[in-house]
Parts: sequence; structure tokens; C-alpha cells
Amino acid sequence: MKKYTCIECGRGAEELYRDFGGGNLKISHCDQCEQVVDKYVEFDPVLVLLDALLHKTQAYRHILLNSDIQFHWRLSVICLLCDAYIKWAQLKSADTTDSQQHQLGFYALEWDFYIMFLLATVELAVFLGCCMLLLRVSREVLFPDVRFSSVVRALLLSSFGKLLVIPAVIWGETNSTVYLGLTRMFVFTCNSLAMRVTLGTRQHVSCGLVAVCLLVQYLISLSLHSLLYTPT
Ligand SMILES: [Zn+2]
Repeated sequence: MKKYTCIECGRGAEELYRDFGGGNLKISHCDQCEQVVDKYVEFDPVLVLLDALLHKTQAYRHILLNSDIQFHWRLSVICLLCDAYIKWAQLKSADTTDSQQHQLGFYALEWDFYIMFLLATVELAVFLGCCMLLLRVSREVLFPDVRFSSVVRALLLSSFGKLLVIPAVIWGETNSTVYLGLTRMFVFTCNSLAMRVTLGTRQHVSCGLVAVCLLVQYLISLSLHSLLYTPT
């Protein structure tokens, strides 16, 4: 199995560049499509991130297949905090109309933040677990070469769109349905593209896979939320 991937055609490649010594490097070209294997090795990381924001498949291949980025778990903790904050802000907003809840004061709301963080963690675990289950079931037929650790890494890294919550907090738009809906749509398209690149599958297959996982996640989240906050 070849170590790298050509970001243009998605085929395997032996190397990204050849080192002739003395600081002389030569960018490698793909045997199949004859284009540069990975032009992003020469790019500034900010430009790679910009292309990832624009959903360029090449940028995703560079990040997920040709680079050794390993901060996905740290990124996921920050994303969980963003998720928890939005849930907490929405809960707080709903509680302001409930005078009985409002009397519980700030400390009760703070506890709610921890509960929301726990809920966001469970949601992420359900999302990843559902994805692993679907891949395991379809492994024999559709994805014989799948590596689960690569899929988890791809899903966590491609959830960077959740950080768009931070501008919402700054602008005071934490209850904006349109903004939050667009953010979720952006995360969905990023996850789908990341799955397509990692699994080497078609766009509609990866979209369907992510959509099913999100649906299961939503239903479980709804059940847990109603279990925790339904008045008795
Ligand atoms: Zn190629």
C-alpha cells in the first residue's frame, strides 16, 4: 500500500517530493494523472485552511491523507465546549420565561452548562459509534480497506465548523436559528466531504452515511433532553 495520495486523482503515490541533499528538493508528479502529487506541501497552512473552508477536495486529501495532524481530540474538546455553550444559551433563553426556573439563579444555570457538556459528549459518542457501526456492517461490500482510526480523525477534524459558534457569541446571535442552521449545514457538508476523501467513495454515499448518523444522534439527543428537562 502506498504511503501518500495524489490530491488530484486520489491514487496512491510513493512520495510527495524527492530530497537530493543540500537543500535541493523536487516536487513529485503522479504516475497516473501526471500532475503534482501534493501542491499543498509548498503552501502556507492558512491557505490550506482557506481551501478547506471552500470545500476543495484537494485540500481535504492533503490534510486527511498526506499530513500527520494529530490534534483532532483537542479540537473536539473545543468543539464540545462550543456545542455545550449553544445548548446552554438556548436553555437559558427558554428558562427566562419560566419564573420558577429563573428563581434557581446563576448556579443552577452553571450546573446546566455541565449537563449540556455531558449531553454534547454523548451526542458525539453516538455520532461516531453509529458511523463505526455502519462502516463495520458494510465493510465487506463497500469499504474493505477502511481504517476506523482514520475515519474518527477525519470526522473530528472536519467538525471544525462548530467553532463558528464563537462569532455567534461575539455578535450575540446564539439564538439565531438561521445562523445555527447554516453552521450545522456547513459541518454536515465538511463531514461528508471528509468521509468521501477518507473512504474513497462517492459523494452521495458519504452524505447518506453522515445524514443517518446525524439523524440517530438527533433522536437520542431529543430523548435525553426531554428526559432531563420535562417538567414533572
Ligand atoms: Zn494523480
